[in-house]
Amino acid sequence: MFDTLSDRLTSVLQNLRGKGRLTDADIDATAREIRIALLEADVALPVVRTFIAKIKERAKGAEVSGALNPAQQVIKIVNEELVAILGGETRRLNLAKTPPTVIMLAGLQGAGKTTLAGKLARWLKGQGHAPMLVACDLQRPNAVTQLQVVAERAGVAVYAPEPGNGVGDPVKVARDSLDEARRAQHDVVIVDTAGRLGVDEELMRQASDIRAAVSPEEVLFVVDAMIGQDAVTTAEAFRDGVGFTGVVLTKLDGDARGGAALSVREVTGMPIMFASNGEKLEDFDAFHPDRMASRILGMGDVLTLIEQAEQHFDQAQAEKAAAKIGTGELTLEDFLEQMLAVRKMGPIANLLGMLPGAGQMKDALAQVDEKSIDRLQAIIRGMTPAERNDPKIINASRRLRIAKGSGVQVREVNDLVNRFYDAKKMMQQMAGRFGM
Ligand code: GDP
Repeated sequence: MFDTLSDRLTSVLQNLRGKGRLTDADIDATAREIRIALLEADVALPVVRTFIAKIKERAKGAEVSGALNPAQQVIKIVNEELVAILGGETRRLNLAKTPPTVIMLAGLQGAGKTTLAGKLARWLKGQGHAPMLVACDLQRPNAVTQLQVVAERAGVAVYAPEPGNGVGDPVKVARDSLDEARRAQHDVVIVDTAGRLGVDEELMRQASDIRAAVSPEEVLFVVDAMIGQDAVTTAEAFRDGVGFTGVVLTKLDGDARGGAALSVREVTGMPIMFASNGEKLEDFDAFHPDRMASRILGMGDVLTLIEQAEQHFDQAQAEKAAAKIGTGELTLEDFLEQMLAVRKMGPIANLLGMLPGAGQMKDALAQVDEKSIDRLQAIIRGMTPAERNDPKIINASRRLRIAKGSGVQVREVNDLVNRFYDAKKMMQQMAGRFGM
């Protein structure tokens, strides 16, 4: 869903790479591009405005950080503000002190309410609850049957008026369902209500009446993320007409631009609680603003790396190493220091696993062996300062001495020296590319 937005944001942020310092003009230009990307993704204008203003203000006021380069600093700010517009903390379901907890679903016809009832029930059942679905959509001819089918697939109970009992009174069905839930010991009741093709007063009144009759702990406004800007106006209409406590976004698997998803929370002030991304019952999960933001930024867990770099950063040491990498003066002594600094951040395999694209590297990662790094350290420690500064002087007899002293084979000393030269060459190339 957010592919285009994600691509755009990633490339905007990539353009900042290699800049030693960001001027206000750089920040303005970046903000402008982010603004265009958001508008193209169909994010509501007021939301875009607030977002951009915050990014600019924070980026311009940001302290120069030793741990993060300017690009990383902007990525961090954009990420934090994205998390904020998506709602900040993950909002969990409110459960009733005395069961049953009542969850009412409201939204337009076709938004995915009935499907959602099944998904939510299955999800709750997986968490040890005993949910019951209640069919209060008595408008649409097939709605009751559809809910029964969904309940059966989810393996949960359903409460519905007897077929052929005329149109029926959805308010009464909702009210009666609570007695049934208490009797049959269902601790969560999910009430599916009727939708219409568009917002209308009769629909709002019926939903309000049901709400008043069963005092739900949660009223979830279900909205199809594919309907674009209409999602925002519909949300406002439901907020004013029925009121809701949380939002469920459906059809996030579609190829729409996703702006609705990014606007609804900010515009209505109500949290997004769940997201649906497919027609199957298992295509559903709780909504986590932080995970969604990093998915939109398309940066794997680079953000986690940024956090860890901030925590474990040693300014003086890093400056020294960076300067040496650029000029090609890096020695084995620095190599050892860097290795120790990186290790402070956690197991190597975990760090590598956080880089984007690391998914395909799983097998290689499994080979990264902390023990072999211990051996490398032992070898470097077994060298004299002169040898660490200039490994070229390490001749056959020195090699033998080092190997013996550190308890390894001569071959391993050779390997280390060769790898050091390779790494040095690679770092110099990278330093050139990233403008270090
Ligand atoms: P209701 O009228 O609000 O009860 O909507 P339905 O639950 O009947 O859903 C309308 C259509 O959307 C159905 O064809 C569903 O299979 C489909 N649908 C619901 N949720 C999703 C979703 O997350 N992704 C996709 N692709 N389709 C969905």
